[in-house]
Amino acid sequence: MNIPLVDLKAQYAGIKGEIDEAIASVIADTAFVGGPYVAKFEEQFASFIGAPHCVGVGNGTDALAIALQGLGIGPGDEVIVPAMTFIATSEAVTLAGGKVVFADVDPVTRCLDPEQVRRALSPRTKAVIGVHLYGHPADMPALKRVTQENGLLLIEDAAQAHGAFIEGRKVGTWGDAACFSFYPGKNLGAYGDGGAILTGDAGRADKMRMLANHGRKKKYGHVFEGCNSRLDGMQAAILSAKLAHLADWTKQRRRLAARYSELLAGSSLSLPQDHEGHVYHLYVVTTPQREELLEHLKQNGVGAGIHYPDALPRLKAYERLGHGPGAFPVAEGLAANALSLPLWPEMSPEQQDYVVAQIHAFWGTK
Ligand SMILES: *Cc1c(COP(=O)(O)O)cnc(C)c1O
Repeated sequence: MNIPLVDLKAQYAGIKGEIDEAIASVIADTAFVGGPYVAKFEEQFASFIGAPHCVGVGNGTDALAIALQGLGIGPGDEVIVPAMTFIATSEAVTLAGGKVVFADVDPVTRCLDPEQVRRALSPRTKAVIGVHLYGHPADMPALKRVTQENGLLLIEDAAQAHGAFIEGRKVGTWGDAACFSFYPGKNLGAYGDGGAILTGDAGRADKMRMLANHGRKKKYGHVFEGCNSRLDGMQAAILSAKLAHLADWTKQRRRLAARYSELLAGSSLSLPQDHEGHVYHLYVVTTPQREELLEHLKQNGVGAGIHYPDALPRLKAYERLGHGPGAFPVAEGLAANALSLPLWPEMSPEQQDYVVAQIHAFWGTK
């Protein structure tokens, strides 16, 4: 059997009619950039998450950079980000002109550790970006306390966590702004790049929308310089069609994750901690024998992944910050030991059983 890490074809097969119709409508209306499909999706997504304003942008990385700029982050401003996430989180800080400050993640949630944020504070700290890593909600109540007590902005990177929640409240509604990615492999994925910023403040939403569209509202009425980062009509129409299925897909992800945890309980792996609001963008286990297990799975047709092979401070890209090994032990531990098992909503029990059997065979457990 051959099991990929994710299978996007299975999802398209199930909703082909809706997707093809959405694409055909956009072409028939030549509503390629801006227009009614984008406005409709923005409204639907804002309402799905429960945020007042949604600004569609070109991708999740731009969403973060534009949100930071829109919130006034610029030269000299320090922004605290987790040491374990995709580079876009920290990259956006630099893109906005700010200074990246890393803090370690919590070993259980794998998200930014609020205590480590407190330790990373300086008089120049202006904002904190909490990342809902692998779909697990970050400890937003605690992060909100830290940022409120210190007069800081709080931004959510929810690129992996569409629909996740904590304390009954969806991620994307906790901070001053929240950023989503619709990269095809994300829980809500477009058929190309896409992203969105959610915010509760109309003025900020307005500024972010202008930043994403050459600093204008009227065709040639440029009020300041921005950039070109817009969600296109085709992606918006596809996302509207897919949004209607997201709750079901999340249920499926959670069901499969629970089944992995049940079937792998007797293995040598450390399993991820469940949380009621976890949307399992990834199901990430850890083992000191990660490399050998990964190779064994590959030999047997199972496409596991590593998210991510380096703690961000250890990357060449952040050499300038001068962090030696051991400065972020939890993030570095994940980089060395984490393995993402195949998971997508349409994965069959047979496919999952095969992955589980290969893992048990590796250690001779079962
Ligand atoms: C995917 C991702 C992003 C960036 O999104 P793009 O749409 O690929 O630019 C940002 N942060 C995290 C945590 C991500 O997983």
